[in-house]
Amino acid sequence: MQALEQKILSEGIVLSDQVLKVDAFLNHQIDPVLMQQVGKEFAERFKDQGITKIITIEASGIAPAIMAGLELGVPVIFARKYQSLTLKDDLYRSKVFSFTKQTESTIAISKKHINQNDKALVIDDFLANGHAALALIDLIQQAQAEVIGVGIVIEKSFQSGRDLLIEKGYRVESLARVKSLANGQVEFVAEAE
Ligand code: 5GP
Repeated sequence: MQALEQKILSEGIVLSDQVLKVDAFLNHQIDPVLMQQVGKEFAERFKDQGITKIITIEASGIAPAIMAGLELGVPVIFARKYQSLTLKDDLYRSKVFSFTKQTESTIAISKKHINQNDKALVIDDFLANGHAALALIDLIQQAQAEVIGVGIVIEKSFQSGRDLLIEKGYRVESLARVKSLANGQVEFVAEAE
């Protein structure tokens, strides 16, 4: 997605050869016009799939997920992160290892909002090693709902997440695919790759 790649080049900050900071338009300050375009692009790629729910994770997945939900006309559920969970049986729970914090936490969604008739689209801001996406998929599967695919705003293609998800049979649609962050430079995967 051209506008997104331009924004990454102009406002993204390469923190290391593993981490890209996009606090100027996605992770802290949010560019609503760009997010609307992101939502339209996800909707275009996943239309005609009968999606009934979008599932994301707080906090940074919410903005793109909301915009996709608006375009597709479906509700958005964001999994909540809990430090410690009191035992409640009205929640589906899964453990996720955080790429940015390097700690494990539990995420959960209410059983009320998803069931076996749902066709769910997972959306997140970044794809690194795939832990967050797989935890969201796990929640959807606990509800016996169908996973239609995974929509990612920024994929770091040099990390293992994409291959892992594809190997497991999931469709992955990433709007920007970063090939490398080496030497402080963002390099994108060419269209044909
Ligand atoms: P994964 O679970 O795929 O290893 O990592 C994805 C999650 O970690 C995303 O939800 C995102 O919040 C965070 N993340 C991974 N890589 C980056 C990065 O380079 N920059 C930022 N800002 N967040 C990242």
